[in-house]
Amino acid sequence: MQLLDGKFISNKIKEEIREEVEALKKNGERPPHLAAILVGNDGASLTYVGSKVRSCEQIGFDSTLIKLDEDISEDKLIANINKLNNDSDIDGFIVQLPLPKHIDEEKILKLVDPSKDVDGFHPYNFGKMAQNLDSFIPATPHGIVELIKRYDIQTEGKHVVVIGRSNIVGRPISILLSNKSNPGNSTVTLVHSRTKDISFYTKTADILVVALGIPNFLKSDMIKKDVVVIDVGITRVEDLTKEKGYKIVGDVDFESVKLKSSFITPVPGGVGPMTIAMLLKNTLKARKNQ
Ligand code: NAP
Repeated sequence: MQLLDGKFISNKIKEEIREEVEALKKNGERPPHLAAILVGNDGASLTYVGSKVRSCEQIGFDSTLIKLDEDISEDKLIANINKLNNDSDIDGFIVQLPLPKHIDEEKILKLVDPSKDVDGFHPYNFGKMAQNLDSFIPATPHGIVELIKRYDIQTEGKHVVVIGRSNIVGRPISILLSNKSNPGNSTVTLVHSRTKDISFYTKTADILVVALGIPNFLKSDMIKKDVVVIDVGITRVEDLTKEKGYKIVGDVDFESVKLKSSFITPVPGGVGPMTIAMLLKNTLKARKNQ
């Protein structure tokens, strides 16, 4: 079994981006500028946005964090989005999800200018990705593809089973790995909460992408030997032995599944850091596109 070390690879990617930013600056150009809108005080969202901002600082990007009250009206949030859309100093921005219940998430994401949509959540970018055209690919599936590429894992002709069909992970990764591309050219099965007998599918998988948000869901009796396992899940589970009072748990029962797998991502330190690296990569792309 070999670990797919997302932390190590993401640091390499960040270093590559940092060098590109240096070159831009040497050329007299301004560095890429990423903005993030955070609504409310959700602990996990604060952590994610915090690490995105810190990563920007590490690699020489400018960053702006816009913190808005939990009870902000939809109109005021839209005004903030329009401001970022029209600000030529901002290359890309994200609206951290989830948004409070009184705000229509789908409506908000559609208002982000597609040329600044570095999360790749706008239907325009999603459609281009689905047609294998150049676009902003959502950071998490983009990170998975990059991890597969950097570990030289062959996907052509392989059976990929994706668990979960969200617009930000399951659905896009199933499209990317079935695209006529490398990585890609896989035969993909997408399973979800209405699938009958998920084990029937997972047992035939050469590559498994697990993204459903249920800690330790995938057990070793659900897989065949030498499968490649990508665990996307991040759930905070109470752990009073930790300083923070919780630990992060993936969707894969790591200790048993690792014994049967050829490659496996740890949680934390697998897909999570790759997601941030690819957000930065998308922001650099947005800067270059301007
Ligand atoms: P989501 O929007 O809640 O979607 C979950 C998907 O899992 C849905 O398609 C759902 O099916 C399916 N599902 C739920 N219970 C199931 C079951 N018992 N059997 C089979 N399928 C089931 O979640 P998400 O946003 O994709 O996130 C999934 C996990 O990844 C979460 O833990 C999240 O925190 C994590 N995540 C991590 C990163 C990262 O950077 N590492 C990024 C994004 C998300 P239905 O469609 O039928 O409801």
